[in-house]
Amino acid sequence: MHAFTSGDSFKTISSSFWWRDLLKVGISTPSQEDPFSSNCSFVVGNGFTTPFWEVVWLNNISLKDFFPDLFELSTLKKVSVAAMGGWREEEWVWGDLGITEEEVVQAGLVSELGVLRSLLENFGGLKGGRDSVSWSLESEKVFSVASCYNWYVSLRTPFGPSKRCEEALEIVWKLEVPYKIKVFAWRLFVNRLPTKDLLVYRGISFASSNSSLNCIFCNTHLEENDHTFFKCVVIKVVWREIGVWLDFPDRREEEGMSSFMEWFFIGWRKGIKDGKLGVFWLAVCWSIWLTRNGFCFRNDKWNINNIVWNIKFLVWRWASYGEIAYSNCNFYDFCKDPLSFMS
Ligand SMILES: [Zn+2]
Repeated sequence: MHAFTSGDSFKTISSSFWWRDLLKVGISTPSQEDPFSSNCSFVVGNGFTTPFWEVVWLNNISLKDFFPDLFELSTLKKVSVAAMGGWREEEWVWGDLGITEEEVVQAGLVSELGVLRSLLENFGGLKGGRDSVSWSLESEKVFSVASCYNWYVSLRTPFGPSKRCEEALEIVWKLEVPYKIKVFAWRLFVNRLPTKDLLVYRGISFASSNSSLNCIFCNTHLEENDHTFFKCVVIKVVWREIGVWLDFPDRREEEGMSSFMEWFFIGWRKGIKDGKLGVFWLAVCWSIWLTRNGFCFRNDKWNINNIVWNIKFLVWRWASYGEIAYSNCNFYDFCKDPLSFMS
């Protein structure tokens, strides 16, 4: 949150990788589903790091959402509150907001601009001190990933019974894997990974040397969430290999959350507690995604053996994040009998 309020709030958000990922999720969703514009409000101090149009700082809606036509007209779309005005003899005076009088008249927006200006007058002037952000989902007004999760999940009932979604996210949240993997799982569950079908849907051209919209693994089917991670004939071989390795029955579910919960119950029946088996499931999906990205963006070669090997290696490496007992065992022993280290 600190990174969001100091420096250039649009470009340099570097303090943590999961926060950066969360922001990407936010930016790629429609504004009514964007957890940041919906649930953050900026408390303006010196106004340097509060975006004028795009966040909530005046009333409880962003000026861009409240005055979309004026926002369109403005040539100053990406500036801070402080940049929209200046001090004149100890009085704060708002500038032209990047909109000329003629344009406003032509567009028939004179009265709208009047309303905006009177809102700004009511705001008064800038105070001193840094800007800060208040997060409406927690009573303390301090951001937490958990509240963001819950809020997001509450919007996602069309993807399945909300109970199951909450359950799956809760298990993932407690697993001992890096934050970015948890965020990745969340995006996979709610179909927010930038798969090619969604990029096309949002009007983003898929610029890369491999510009086909097909799944990179089978090259016959459009790349989409459920296909690429579960239904693809090539990827099914990966799941089967991992299933054999763990001595599992062949898996049946072909959708993110159902598949995850299926693994959870298999693990539960085998006496593996706390959904720890989910670590293996996450490693499978993450490896598939890394392989896909490597091919799309760097033209990396791939094969099934490498993906399977990478999955095993990831689980073994992630063990250092938590208390799972095999963190002290060598990779070879772990590969021979992965589940004996879980109980
Ligand atoms: Zn495929």
